[in-house]
Amino acid sequence: GKVCMYSCGPTVYSFAHIGNLRTYVFMDLFRRVLKYDGYKLKGVMNITDVGHLTSDEDEGEDKMEKASREQKKSPYEIAEFYAGVFFEDLKKLNIGRPEIVEKITDHIPETIAYVQELIDKGYAYEIDDGIYYDISKFPGYGKLSRLNLDEQQAGARVEVNSQKRHPADFAVWKKAEPNHIMQWESPWGMGYPGWHIECSALSRKYLGFPFDIHTGGVDHIPVHHENEIAQNEAITGKKTVNYWVHGDFMLVDNGKMSKSLGNTYTISDLEKRGYSAMDFRYFCLNAHYRKKLNFTFDGMDGAKVSYARLLGALYQHKTSEAKTEDSVIKAYKDEFVEAINDDLNVPRALGILWKAVKEPKSRDIYDLALDFDKVLGLSLDQAKPEEQPKVEAPAEVVEMAEQRIAAKKEKNYALADELRAKITAAGYTVTDTKDGYVLNKA
Ligand code: AMP
Ligand code: ZN
Repeated sequence: GKVCMYSCGPTVYSFAHIGNLRTYVFMDLFRRVLKYDGYKLKGVMNITDVGHLTSDEDEGEDKMEKASREQKKSPYEIAEFYAGVFFEDLKKLNIGRPEIVEKITDHIPETIAYVQELIDKGYAYEIDDGIYYDISKFPGYGKLSRLNLDEQQAGARVEVNSQKRHPADFAVWKKAEPNHIMQWESPWGMGYPGWHIECSALSRKYLGFPFDIHTGGVDHIPVHHENEIAQNEAITGKKTVNYWVHGDFMLVDNGKMSKSLGNTYTISDLEKRGYSAMDFRYFCLNAHYRKKLNFTFDGMDGAKVSYARLLGALYQHKTSEAKTEDSVIKAYKDEFVEAINDDLNVPRALGILWKAVKEPKSRDIYDLALDFDKVLGLSLDQAKPEEQPKVEAPAEVVEMAEQRIAAKKEKNYALADELRAKITAAGYTVTDTKDGYVLNKA
């Protein structure tokens, strides 16, 4: 009756992008389905605020320290700021906060004790720059990603650290360079925990081994989660996570999202372009979590229009006094339950909702939708008459529309008319609404 779930949390050195957020929408859907099925949940999420290096191969700078240097703030201030924005994003997206959320910097003693245990059991060794896990001691290494060690060796990048016994050995504790701001005393001198040990130490502390479910993005399978398994099983000698469940990636224009391509959008970027967080959640719900999801602005336009239509149709159900037969409602509900329990088939569940919405108007359909919304999390109780969704217009057109509203407020109707003419000349129409205006392509 109870599910213990661990979810890898964000490294709080920057804003979460929509790809990261897709993974947390997936986590949230999973949690909601379990709750809908009647399970009690104990979810744990870490906040990585130290030790995640710019390269997953234990090289490069600590992401937190890099941001600290670039933004001229202490790493603690950086962490506090970006963790704050992250939780605001989750709230906007109706992503429930896991029951336990913990920062790694509040758990340094636990990570040190864990590393010491690995050394005592013969699984870790000390070299000049830190303590490393000796993967040759763990025959199961690679089983999650179905890679064998030779393949990993062949795939490893040019070896930088010649003291490591195997190229895939990974740091569980790093000795700090003098300029590393975040550092703590340890049996091995001043240092800080490695990224992978953080999740092992926290899941062990708050859930205990074995626990039920571990989630994350697919990128974490080959290194981060493989390393967690190696660390965990060194302690118990047994399986420590019953189910690993990974969300697939979000692509942008069918390619990778990256800072250098300028396509790592945040929720506030989408908001600035006129999309709400719920439009984005609706967009995510249209793809199964184990499939890649390609982000495009055309796709977002489609999601925005469909979501507005859904709310509009539900408003009509809400305000109807007619009834729908119980057997019809029950059939929809059964179908819905089957879909969400078929490996979280949320796109199918959404299709079932749409089918129900197309029934003759009745308050029962609205109530059914609110019940489905416990899983979908689309704020369907906000059902309202459908408005023409705002279309995306070039910045200068939006600017003119804003100036026009200001002119009208000042009763400068001549200027307002002149601006309207300019907007029309630019190929757009502007319509006044109760809350402002709507731009449409002419
Ligand atoms: P990080 O803060 O880098 O540890 O990433 C936070 C989460 O986002 C992890 O679970 C990653 O697997 C996930 N993630 C990173 N990039 C993407 C992407 N493009 N699409 C979906 N999930 C992603
Ligand atoms: Zn993790």
